[in-house]
Amino acid sequence: MELLKQRILNDGRVKEGNILKVETFLNHQMDIALLDEIGAEFARRFSGAPITKILTIEASGIGIAAIASRYFGSVPVIFAKKTKSKNLDGELLVTKVHSFTKGVTYDVQISKHLLTEDDTVLIIDDFLAKGQALLGLIDLVEQAGAKLAGCGIVIEKTFQEGGGLIRNKGIRVESLAMISSIENGEVHFDGE
Ligand code: 5GP
Repeated sequence: MELLKQRILNDGRVKEGNILKVETFLNHQMDIALLDEIGAEFARRFSGAPITKILTIEASGIGIAAIASRYFGSVPVIFAKKTKSKNLDGELLVTKVHSFTKGVTYDVQISKHLLTEDDTVLIIDDFLAKGQALLGLIDLVEQAGAKLAGCGIVIEKTFQEGGGLIRNKGIRVESLAMISSIENGEVHFDGE
């Protein structure tokens, strides 16, 4: 997605450890016009898939998924929670996610009744790096017995192993910007 690539080149900042900061337009301050284009692009790529729910993870995925939902007939958006709050009562589906950026493993959960075997799910997230967050969300879909249409990712770092891990399971992954390397503070995209 050309618009997104240009925005990454113009406003993204490279940090130590191959981390790309995009907090001015994607995951802290959000550019709603850009999120709108992102939602439309996910809808183009997954057109024809009978999606009934979008699943994401708090916090960065929520805004992206909510706007994308408008392009999928306003299907419900579920965001997996990283903490077990009092509002989360009843039976839960729980999985473990290891965060390499934060160096911790935490439980991620949704209420069991929100996803059923009648659902076809699109998973949406902001980044795909080592794939741990996505694998956790995929596990929740599998535990629910729901069908998985695929994963829509805004930025995939293809030099890390996550994309390969998930595609090798036969799961469709559509990433709107695919970064092949971050070297000397410069971002390069696949195919360049
Ligand atoms: P993964 O589980 O695929 O390694 O990445 C999980 C999460 O780490 C992503 O959802 C994202 O929140 C964060 N993350 C990974 N790489 C980056 C990055 O380069 N920049 C930012 N801002 N977040 C990242």
